[in-house]
Amino acid sequence: MNVFYKSYCRVYQFIFKCSIPVLPYRKPEILDDQDKIGVKLNELNINRVLIVTDKGIVKVGLLDYLLNCLKEKSIETYVYDGTVPNPTSDNVEEARNLYLENNCGAIIALGGGSPIDLAKAVGARIVKPNKSLYKMKGLFKVCKKLPPLFVIPTTAGTGSETTVTSVITDSNTHHKYLINDFSLIPHYAVLDYKVTLGLPPHITSTTGMDALTHAIEAFIGNTRTNETKKMSMEATKLIVSSLKTCYSDPTNAEARTNMLYASHYAGIAFTKAYVGYVHAIAHTLGGKYGVAHGLANSVILPVMLEAYGEKIYKKLAVLSRYSGLANEKDSDEIASKNFINWIKEANKEMNIPSVIEQVKAEDIDEMVETALKEGNPLYPVPVLMGKEEFKRIYLSIMKE
Ligand SMILES: [Zn+2]
Repeated sequence: MNVFYKSYCRVYQFIFKCSIPVLPYRKPEILDDQDKIGVKLNELNINRVLIVTDKGIVKVGLLDYLLNCLKEKSIETYVYDGTVPNPTSDNVEEARNLYLENNCGAIIALGGGSPIDLAKAVGARIVKPNKSLYKMKGLFKVCKKLPPLFVIPTTAGTGSETTVTSVITDSNTHHKYLINDFSLIPHYAVLDYKVTLGLPPHITSTTGMDALTHAIEAFIGNTRTNETKKMSMEATKLIVSSLKTCYSDPTNAEARTNMLYASHYAGIAFTKAYVGYVHAIAHTLGGKYGVAHGLANSVILPVMLEAYGEKIYKKLAVLSRYSGLANEKDSDEIASKNFINWIKEANKEMNIPSVIEQVKAEDIDEMVETALKEGNPLYPVPVLMGKEEFKRIYLSIMKE
């Protein structure tokens, strides 16, 4: 990468960093059990709600407890379970109609990233009845307070319950687009471990590693603030202490709770401080081969941290010591390497591969281009990289 482009990237990121304190970030209020939702709704004088979820969740019975809790508080529920894995604009309109036909006053999302994305978009369409979803694409096109939005994440990884983003696929054009607006940040995050007890082991492990990637990328980047540093440190410590336990002992309530909080804190950290190249590369693997986001991140994370090299020793050492993987006497280099080794070992213990099987040599150039477009100049990474460095990363996660 040439010097001029490097300076351009850094100036771009600096301007972004300066804008953080003046932007209207908000944190959701945390509720620790689904039975608190009804209490809140009673306080808000709302007695009819739309629940946005998907068929898989309903089928395994994850919705039952929530329905009972709301019934006890005399709240009528209308369930939209048509959410597909990449939620569509048709999904949004169907759910919105259900909300309007039944005079609902609040939205509850129960699920992984998809129902949460959908619920945010439904909220946006409810307060903006004359603006099509497509016209809300991009930055700050909603700018209006959503109906009370409660989010119950069923995986501990995406941190969607803290973020400004909703990803929707247009039903006609199949084009996927992002809606980013501060009003999409949910009002309540319900971190109830009970909905995560039945997660399959490979989802527990890879979504947990996604959360770790959020925490680390936000921490080693240049846009971090004192608050995001603290959030990343807490998230990392919880993940180091609890992720492997969730994998080996899936019904451990304490470990499951810790992972939900870790994912939440990491979400707050990256919403402000952004992610980095691990995500840029993971998104290309998702786009090209449909590789799950968490799996892609788990594989790329240790490789990218090693590629950043000594520039990140000091920062990684802080996370390593804070999580008990090194002590004060260890040098930054040792502490940082202990941490990367912990990630590699944890991946191995949780049966996460060290390569992505689908990667083909002939696709690499195209993916490098796409990943560079996403990463530069936007991501405030600790070391700026270009084509050659990216190519090496793809080669090292390719099966020999
Ligand atoms: Zn992620």
